[in-house]
Amino acid sequence: MKLLLLGPIGSGKGTQAKLICKKYNIPHISTGEIFRWNIENKTSLGKQAQKFVNAGKLVPDSLTNEIVADRLKKEDCQKGFLLDGYPRNIEQAHALDKIVSLDKVILIDLSEDEIIKRLSNRRMCKICRQPTNTEWLVDGKCEKCGGEVYVRDDDKPEIIKVRLETNKVSNEIINFYKDKGIFYKINATNEVEQTFELLDAILKQ
Ligand code: AMP
Repeated sequence: MKLLLLGPIGSGKGTQAKLICKKYNIPHISTGEIFRWNIENKTSLGKQAQKFVNAGKLVPDSLTNEIVADRLKKEDCQKGFLLDGYPRNIEQAHALDKIVSLDKVILIDLSEDEIIKRLSNRRMCKICRQPTNTEWLVDGKCEKCGGEVYVRDDDKPEIIKVRLETNKVSNEIINFYKDKGIFYKINATNEVEQTFELLDAILKQ
């Protein structure tokens, strides 16, 4: 099962990706998470990516394509994987196409107003490293593990606007996968569980 989940920032794509990967036992390859881990751990990749990530801009394709290609070569990806956050532009889609054939590409769609609302309320847990929401916190702490939470640097309102522009799922990418006959779309305005049911129905087809 070689999957790609597309969706605007704040669509709940990462949360859905984790649910799919757990159910189907495939690795979750999130370029955003790879970059954040490397930045936190001050690796050489992290140092190269940091200024782009913190400004909400895309990390250059040359660097990003190489990281994904290396990751997809690993043993755990041979039976399948789920890509999340990559490809972000048509050049990356072409680069990916040269190394692997995807089975299904699913777009999780959400309106811009809803995205801004969701991202302004998003918090990250310092302990379990999962996203949460101001409405779910218990005494200001992560509802899952009690850890302290923080706002991602790139979830600040002025950066959200830049990210929305930079991270729009382009029609070019959508058409690229439509032409291959592997493109599906669902709406993400529902609760997490309902969205997952919609996704899973597509995966079972
Ligand atoms: P995300 O968690 O997917 O929102 O990604 C966070 C940040 O990582 C983005 O704003 C970019 O700076 C960087 N990033 C993630 N995926 C890519 C990609 N495919 N190409 C370039 N930059 C990326």
